[in-house]
Amino acid sequence: MTRLLCATGNPGKLREFRLAASHAPVEIELLPNFREIPPCVEDGATFEENAIIKARHYGRNAAGLLFADDSGLEVDALGGAPGVYSARFSGPDATDAGNNRLLLEKLRGVEKRTARFVCAIALVEGEQIRGIYRGAVEGVILDEARGSAGFGYDPLFYYAPFGCTFGEASDERKFSVSHRGQALVAMLQDLVKA
Ligand code: IMP
Repeated sequence: MTRLLCATGNPGKLREFRLAASHAPVEIELLPNFREIPPCVEDGATFEENAIIKARHYGRNAAGLLFADDSGLEVDALGGAPGVYSARFSGPDATDAGNNRLLLEKLRGVEKRTARFVCAIALVEGEQIRGIYRGAVEGVILDEARGSAGFGYDPLFYYAPFGCTFGEASDERKFSVSHRGQALVAMLQDLVKA
């Protein structure tokens, strides 16, 4: 059984990562002292860069394998925004509700509403990079929220193959197709090969 430490302050993400671990010979645990470590500045220009910054920052404080992810929403009509600014879209004290409100405002009257969630995971041992993994899932931004499952932009993200938003899908169902699920599975496959 491989033990993987996860560096995230987002319980929604940790829940999704653990779902994948339930079918794989890995155990995913939150980095025990995560909350005591001062956060790093995520100033990368891409999801990959930010995932590496985070993983190295927390990897320094961990024994063994550790991973961190960076993820967000790219909306085509907004030139790929909010992108790496997804968590802080509506300002430094942004909440999911505030971010969703701003997204709806920016897309008011816009017909082309295609978007994708993207996730990059960086796996490190200490500060050394062991792998970078990426996943993406395509959807459409609705003009009102539907469902209360998940987190972030899930209630606005309509996924056609399910016929509902990610906010209306169970964690298990969402994870089976999500950007985070794809990136995590790629990492697990790589670990099993090694
Ligand atoms: P991160 O913690 O810097 O990766 O920020 C990710 C942000 O992107 C979150 O706060 C959400 O706003 C958004 N996001 C990323 N993944 C998802 C998802 O699976 N569902 C909904 N929103 C997401």
